[in-house]
Amino acid sequence: MKLEDIKTIGVVGAGTMGQGIAQICAQAGYKTILFDINAQVLEKAETTTKNNLDKGIERGKLTEQEKQTALANLTFTGNTLQLSCDVIIEAIVERLEVKQSIFKELADINTPDTILASNTSSIPITQIAAAVPNPERVVGMHFFNPAHIMKLVEVISGAATAPEIAETIKQLAEKLGKTAVMAKDSPGFIVNRVARHFYVEGLKLLEEGVADIETIDKLMQASGFKMGPFELMDLIGVDTNYSVTTSMFEAFHYDPKFRPSRIQQQKVDAGHHGRKSGKGFYKYD
Ligand code: NAD
Repeated sequence: MKLEDIKTIGVVGAGTMGQGIAQICAQAGYKTILFDINAQVLEKAETTTKNNLDKGIERGKLTEQEKQTALANLTFTGNTLQLSCDVIIEAIVERLEVKQSIFKELADINTPDTILASNTSSIPITQIAAAVPNPERVVGMHFFNPAHIMKLVEVISGAATAPEIAETIKQLAEKLGKTAVMAKDSPGFIVNRVARHFYVEGLKLLEEGVADIETIDKLMQASGFKMGPFELMDLIGVDTNYSVTTSMFEAFHYDPKFRPSRIQQQKVDAGHHGRKSGKGFYKYD
């Protein structure tokens, strides 16, 4: 499939990432179908999209007419059967078996030409692709949070990905206003492989009692990072960040440098998932 053949885009998962990805696809003129199994999440995604577009108008970045066109391009649905599209971008929980199961379902609904992309942060694309027929159309398309603002997209080729599919996805990312970088398939790809230590070491400092959350965050900010590790985990989703660390720990054969933190696990167990749940390492109104 070539860039000019893409008319419809499906986004699976309307959470932190899926909402923003669907928004920019709709803004770029694609008929976009945003799917989630949770009706409340879909409702919240619709409100967030409208709020983001309104903010864009306030800042002079888009017109009322462009907002209306973007909203007209977007469909919110809880019905998988509506996901018959040219490209589908999956953004659901960071668990291999759950991703494989939705990819199988998507392959059944669509023709072998449909490009199946995953926004996974850490799971090898080769493993996701192994679950579907025609794995050459499976590719990584890794956006950063918030997806409607952050410019970078990693495009990841699995062992079976056809080079022309990766190229089409790179061009699609550029059409969405992003800077696309090709990466090889490796757990965590490029950014998450390097960044993992930012979180893991921050949590170790906390566990060892070297400093508290606020001090670590303030110092990392003072040293030039936009956010400290705890603020950033709250933005990403403490649960999602924990799943990414767990997946990388397993993928690197339990290398202790990626070992997930008990403190973080406890936050996940308690439902303190960060901004999206109102509480994480910090509290939100
Ligand atoms: P999230 O928890 O905010 O949202 C996930 C959504 O998927 C939920 O709304 C859930 O209802 C839905 N879902 C779960 N199973 C589903 C299914 N079978 N079908 C349809 N919907 C289903 O998660 P997120 O933070 O948006 O992360 C999604 C993916 O994006 C993960 O793979 C994650 O690693 C990746 N990612 C996250 C970030 C980030 O900063 N949060 C950044 C880049 C990539």
